Amino acid sequence: ARTAAGWNFDNSYARLPDRMFTRLAPTAVRAPELVVLNDSLAASLGLNAEALRTEQGAAELAGNRIPEGAEPLAQAYAGHQFGHFTMLGDGRALLLGEQITPRGERFDIQLKGSGPTPYSRRGDGRAALGPMLREYIISEAMHALGIPTTRSLAVAATGETILRETELPGAVLTRVAASHIRVGTFQYAANWGTAEELRALADYTLRRHYPDIEAGAEAKDNRYLALLRGAIDRQAALIAQWMLVGFIHGVMNTDNMALSGETIDYGPCAFMDVYDPATVFSSIDTQGRYAYGNQPYIGAWNLARLAEAILPLLHDEEEQAVKLAEDALAGYNEAYQRRWLAGMRAKLGIGNEEKEDEVLIADLLRIMRQSRADYTHTFRALTFDRAEETPLAGTEEFGPWRERWQARLGRQEEPPEAWKQRMRDHNPAVIPRNHRVEEALEAAVEDGDYGVMQRLLNALSKPFAHSPDQEEYAALPPESSCAYRTFCGT
Ligand code: AMP
Ligand code: MG
Ligand code: MG
Repeated sequence: ARTAAGWNFDNSYARLPDRMFTRLAPTAVRAPELVVLNDSLAASLGLNAEALRTEQGAAELAGNRIPEGAEPLAQAYAGHQFGHFTMLGDGRALLLGEQITPRGERFDIQLKGSGPTPYSRRGDGRAALGPMLREYIISEAMHALGIPTTRSLAVAATGETILRETELPGAVLTRVAASHIRVGTFQYAANWGTAEELRALADYTLRRHYPDIEAGAEAKDNRYLALLRGAIDRQAALIAQWMLVGFIHGVMNTDNMALSGETIDYGPCAFMDVYDPATVFSSIDTQGRYAYGNQPYIGAWNLARLAEAILPLLHDEEEQAVKLAEDALAGYNEAYQRRWLAGMRAKLGIGNEEKEDEVLIADLLRIMRQSRADYTHTFRALTFDRAEETPLAGTEEFGPWRERWQARLGRQEEPPEAWKQRMRDHNPAVIPRNHRVEEALEAAVEDGDYGVMQRLLNALSKPFAHSPDQEEYAALPPESSCAYRTFCGT
């Protein structure tokens, strides 16, 4: 039965073994105030935005009042953080429950910044307004780009101050996700759970995220191997999509990799401006472990940790289990490369396959790197025949490359309009440029002016529209934003 706000919870995670979570209510905040609400997401969840905007709705989205049917809990998980294995868990988040939408889909509704939990370690369980607005902006931008991601329903200011390097205004983000099951959730079950608990988690994940596998012939043979293969395939596809838009996640710890295949944890992430595989924005990633160009390899590394965690489920004999896992993991590179190549072809307007395409693409990227070209801007300039506006034009290699490319396009059995449309559909004009995001956050946090952010969100919601009124959001960043830095844990 739906409530007035439209809440319609069914809490399957709370029916998993007790070890997987701790039931706990959010800690109330002083003065809840809804500062952003995602009307279209609310509607698709079956929620009534008007009701969420009332005092009661704001109280629910700030954790001051538990919506009817919710069973709040903090999830237990572990994870490799920068390569080191640690017990983690929701230290500043609570799962309210799973909202069943009018179409029968199931989504986690999670409050982030909702107070301390048994997994908080030394943290205060709280989040700052700026970073929560930042997650809202970037996750919604990713969604509009067609990339699987957790989404943001709302940000509620708390009326409280939290202490970081300085005092900052606090906030609670409502995050919407296919689920919050992470590689780290499996690592937790494998390390601290029983064999039955690990199996229960795997069965649950199969039912919830891989219903096709669950129903198919592959699962009858070895359902857990099928789960591993499915997770490998989704991560390969996801990371290829990140790479294609120049997204740098920034903290690809195993606790930040979701079994659903969604992008999760918008801490230190950022979009690359100048094309350089070594790009790192995160202030704590001093070794460049999570640099742009490393992401595909880290994906494989994390999946190997998943495979290790479920090894006992793959086969009774360890040697056989290892062999099965290795075979599955060996499929990652090909799956990633296939997706990435298809995406790169599309960005260049190519709709069929030729063997030399890989060289054509690699040559372009080399020229871009050497001339320090802006990643997004370059592909957009190629789309609209405006390469002379890019640093590519100043290189000797670009002219011959462009001739090869044009000849390649001409070998397709389709009119130029078809490949031009393909390029428009695959090369976004508007991405959340760092300087634009900062400008929006500053206006919101410093001045309480949410208009700048709303206009940015509006532009980000149509990244492939290529409409003239978006030109200011497609513009290159000022030189000064090159040394951009991001932070986690605020
Ligand atoms: P992340 O780097 O965002 O993946 O977070 C890693 C871990 O730190 C997770 O277990 C978080 O719940 C926890 N954490 C981050 N910030 C806080 C905080 N302010 N209070 C408590 N736990 C936190
Ligand atoms: Mg995290
Ligand atoms: Mg985080």
